[in-house]
Amino acid sequence: MPTRDARAPGAPRARTRPAPGAGEQIPKARRAKLSGWGGALEAEALVLSPTDIDEARAALGAAQHAAPGTRTGLIARGMGRSYGDAAQLSGGHVIDVTGLRGFDLDPAAGTVTAQAGATLGELLAVLVPAGWMLPVVPGTQHVSVGGAIASDIHGKNHSTDGSFGRHVEALGLLTAAGEVLELGPGSAGDLFSATLGGMGLTGLILWARISLKPVAGAMMAVDSDRVEHVDDALAVLAAPDGGTHRVAWLDLVASKTGRGIVTRAEHAAEPARPGTDRGDHVSSASDGATVATKLTVPKRWPAGLLRSSTIGPFNELRYRSVPGQERGKLETIGKHLFPLDALNAWPRLYGPRGFTQYQLVVPYGSESVLHNVIGGLRRRRVPCYLCVLKDMGPASVAPLSFPISGWTMTLDIPWAADGIRPLLDEFDVLVAEAGGRVYLSKDARMSPEALRAMYPELGRWQAAREQADPERLWRSDLALRTALVESTGR
Ligand SMILES: Cc1cc2nc3c(=O)[nH]c(=O)nc-3n(C[C@H](O)[C@H](O)[C@H](O)COP(=O)(O)OP(=O)(O)OC[C@H]3O[C@@H](n4cnc5c(N)ncnc54)[C@H](O)[C@@H]3O)c2cc1C
Repeated sequence: MPTRDARAPGAPRARTRPAPGAGEQIPKARRAKLSGWGGALEAEALVLSPTDIDEARAALGAAQHAAPGTRTGLIARGMGRSYGDAAQLSGGHVIDVTGLRGFDLDPAAGTVTAQAGATLGELLAVLVPAGWMLPVVPGTQHVSVGGAIASDIHGKNHSTDGSFGRHVEALGLLTAAGEVLELGPGSAGDLFSATLGGMGLTGLILWARISLKPVAGAMMAVDSDRVEHVDDALAVLAAPDGGTHRVAWLDLVASKTGRGIVTRAEHAAEPARPGTDRGDHVSSASDGATVATKLTVPKRWPAGLLRSSTIGPFNELRYRSVPGQERGKLETIGKHLFPLDALNAWPRLYGPRGFTQYQLVVPYGSESVLHNVIGGLRRRRVPCYLCVLKDMGPASVAPLSFPISGWTMTLDIPWAADGIRPLLDEFDVLVAEAGGRVYLSKDARMSPEALRAMYPELGRWQAAREQADPERLWRSDLALRTALVESTGR
């Protein structure tokens, strides 16, 4: 049986032990500067790196008993792939869960039980060769299981498979009271659904059992269509005969209309024969389930190199890289689903000020918002170097989960762009009025008012959170900035 770690992730049902007090040695505590993937917002925090459940509990105790005058509070951090300030707490404690990395595949049940710090890429490297696929993956393999649950991530197949939380059968949560609770869809109360998409603010996810999908191998059959206008992209994405993994890349630099490429992909029915199939060869150690880093952007990348005049020709090449229409090209899971991972540390391309990713979703029928956003960027000359469009299916039961039935658009914008803040505030209003929302896991600037206007079940989430953590121990810079969790003044 493919197994990564003999330490099976423990699953106690409601084990209670007092959290350790002040002065207890917490392994690997260090003061560090942290930021999200966009690099726009920095925080200095005390980072604690537990390697098992007892050390995680000790880290909780350290935050509870911080010296007087020190700002208390703590937040979990996985791989730091959220773009803004969700996984950091200025002046507080951050629990780095990447030391909790074991996992077990149960092929008879079609599930994997993984500790929270295991990355989806590490799981895929074992699962796919054994004939199993994670049902939902984001656009990078470098996210942790805990981060995937806390953001209730979505993939290109959201319309058919929903978000990550739909496939979580059970999880272990270390609460502010020092309890480890086993929670699942059938648990009493709202704590399980408040934890899915709950941005780490209900407690520390220690492990999770996730249901899997069978696959024949690591290949995907990909259809591509070049489009001249954003409306054509919407039409191809909505066509009933497309594959289940759908996404459009739009060129907002060299094109006024949002020309781009729409891909629709399906897991191939046959395993690939290395070196003989069309498309990619199956080669790497993970048999194509993940993608290897090909290049690393150097640390001292000059700030001014990324600009419309350099991105324009690159986008032109990308646009021409596929014929007008292509059907059934075989690509590995890694290459098709995680293309950005081939370039390590790519946010450095934006220079020291970093960038933000604005991701919105609006209900079907609100396409005018997409047009207004594209038009607004153009009119205000705010550059957007990457734009991605996807369709989404019905929302989950989780009150803070981002996806709703409709269109989602992501925009990568340099943080130093003139006028970016007021423009995104205007977009927030358009999105909220349409009944849409902005993704917290990408956010670096949303106001409490905008958040309240977008998430109608916020009150339900806050009630569940408050019950689990009345002292508001779990908090993050994101939570305080948006008043998801109100500051206790400590
Ligand atoms: C290139 C790229 C592509 C992406 N594509 C997508 C996409 O297609 N769809 C999508 O939904 N997202 C996407 N994302 C965002 C990413 O999937 C989420 O931000 C995810 O949460 C990151 O996981 P992480 O392990 O890096 O978590 P972090 O960034 O470290 O943390 C994110 C949040 O999870 C919480 N958290 C982390 N671990 C735990 C834990 N053990 N217990 C409790 N809370 C925890 C943190 O407190 C924080 O609130 C993408 C990100 C990148 C960089």
